Amino acid sequence: MMDTNRYARFAAELEPGWVWLVGAGPGDPGLLTLHALSALEQAEVLVHDALVDARIVALAPETAERIDVGKRGWHKSPKQSEISDLLVDLARQGRRVVRLKGGDPFVFGRGAEETRALVEAGIPFRIVPGITAGIGGLAYAGIPLTTRSTNDVVAFVTGHDESGAMARRVKWEDLAATVPVLVVYMPMRSLADICKRMIAGGRDGNESCAVIASASTPAQRVVVTTLSRAAADVAAAGIQSPAMFVVGPVVDWRRWVDWFKAAAG
Ligand code: SAH
Repeated sequence: MMDTNRYARFAAELEPGWVWLVGAGPGDPGLLTLHALSALEQAEVLVHDALVDARIVALAPETAERIDVGKRGWHKSPKQSEISDLLVDLARQGRRVVRLKGGDPFVFGRGAEETRALVEAGIPFRIVPGITAGIGGLAYAGIPLTTRSTNDVVAFVTGHDESGAMARRVKWEDLAATVPVLVVYMPMRSLADICKRMIAGGRDGNESCAVIASASTPAQRVVVTTLSRAAADVAAAGIQSPAMFVVGPVVDWRRWVDWFKAAAG
């Protein structure tokens, strides 16, 4: 068993009136960093998104207040500014505040908008990076991000923009033409469109791709398919968010890399 006291010397104090912006990783609590674990242990108030795994939220002391800003009950649909204001208020109350986000705070996670609000309000903070779903999720799906024979480049792309519509700024055809491996966050609502546009950009409809849902949790599911069949296969499998979409020859390496057995099979 791990003796966590041995690692205590690496921890920093979460001081009253500070906010720590902490990445929780993709789900498996074992993927927390030591700083993330120590943040949870020191938290007096934990402000987290719906995406953060319940087992991780449970690591904070029972006495810590938990505010789920991803939950419908908190505010109908909280604006980013309301979350930032909440963090500022809590810090001004002199509490030890942990702002916990899924994956890494700065990968499609609006972390910078929150630090900006903290800077403007004069609130001190620390950043604790987390393992982003595009890295940890792929590893748990048995898909390497790069291999020497397949790709020198990877793109992390978002399938949604802020309005919830498909990311208009993303030039899918150009990316498809130039980047061998594409890792798409929030792909589900636009999956059929994304695939069509990649094929329009010159990708083969028979090219391998995969959708990875609830990566690194007992509910993990991986659907390996092709660009032309992906939308139909994913719908037929009843795959739910959160899910990642990965396109490229690294998907074919799964036979050499796959290792994680989720409870859901
Ligand atoms: N900051 C997060 C991403 C936030 S955007 C990170 O670094 O991972 C939310 C999207 O992340 C989800 O819609 C999904 O595409 C992806 N995601 C996060 N956790 C995931 C998981 N456990 N399994 C699959 N996808 C995940």
